[in-house]
Amino acid sequence: ASANSLSSSSGEEIIENVVIIGSGPAGYTAAIYAARANLKPVVFEGYQMGGVPGGQLMTTTEVENFPGFPEGITGPDLMERMRKQAERWGAELYPEDVESLSVKTAPFTVQSSERKVKCHSIIYATGATAKRLRIPREEEFWSRGISACAICDGASPLFKGQVLAVVGGGDTATEEALYLTKYARHVHLLVRRDQLRASKAMQDRVINNPNITVHYNTETVDVLSNTKGQMSGILLRRIDTGEETELEAKGLFYGIGHSPNSQLLEGQVELDSSGYVLVREGTSNTSVEGVFAAGDVQDHEWRQAVTAAGSGCMAALSAERYLTSNN
Ligand code: FAD
Repeated sequence: ASANSLSSSSGEEIIENVVIIGSGPAGYTAAIYAARANLKPVVFEGYQMGGVPGGQLMTTTEVENFPGFPEGITGPDLMERMRKQAERWGAELYPEDVESLSVKTAPFTVQSSERKVKCHSIIYATGATAKRLRIPREEEFWSRGISACAICDGASPLFKGQVLAVVGGGDTATEEALYLTKYARHVHLLVRRDQLRASKAMQDRVINNPNITVHYNTETVDVLSNTKGQMSGILLRRIDTGEETELEAKGLFYGIGHSPNSQLLEGQVELDSSGYVLVREGTSNTSVEGVFAAGDVQDHEWRQAVTAAGSGCMAALSAERYLTSNN
């Protein structure tokens, strides 16, 4: 039997083949593959970003490393193309957040703000979100001095030629600090511990860079502003002595990691200690048969558009096989 013939209904109730949650590169790629396999996927694109589908790349300008675009392509343009491709093959797209789901018994149930859908399989592709420090003036200065992405914002006129700071001591923070030296006058790296957690190679590059000053045992307390309301500095506290100091800086970049958007699966599917969905190595299979995960929500290592797309493809092909072999 073709997987398509599995779409079944009992009385009024339709049971979909596959529901895809998320509209980043992973979700749309899964949708393209599932639609081309005639599975008629239902895609919940999410509404968190004010109803704008497309995931994290909607917040960036040029994407220079997605294969097939030698001149680069803007994030929104790339995502619009993926969306159209999914639509062209018949994916049913809903710009809604999934609010709850149950995978304890089959068929599974997915509940969005607008509808309840029963399905035989789920592809979970809800991405990840950069962690925030939650300092008192964070909201006030978000995108006006505080950023969670050096690659996206480092070249902005707000930061070019200025003194900037990066908070964090791992690979993300050290990479951000090094990246920012291309544009900034000087970069301060604010590290809570008495050492860096980044790989030895990254540590060496940071420590040997004359344009980076590393501040150990340092807590970032808040952002300071001048009389015009612009960000002018950062209030720091020494963790060992409690002493507070002010550091002049026009920008503060967060490099403290990402949180996977896996809340809906808590208690139902195995997650790792940081909340990433655990998939069996080399597959998209979660701990529950018929539930697949793709993209940043299951990947704390690569977190790239192309790897997310690749895992979305794997998830859709796996769902197709699962549906075929189970019915
Ligand atoms: P995401 O893109 O995070 O998409 C997740 C989707 O899930 C979103 O649409 C969200 O709305 C949806 N969602 C979440 N929860 C729910 C829910 N409950 N119900 C329904 N939908 C939900 N990578 C590169 O390869 N090249 C780059 O140049 C590059 N630049 C970047 C620039 C920035 C500013 C950022 C933040 C990231 C960048 N990345 C880049 C990384 C890349 O964007 C991610 O690796 C990729 O988007 C991950 O894709 P994804 O499909 O897993 O998730």
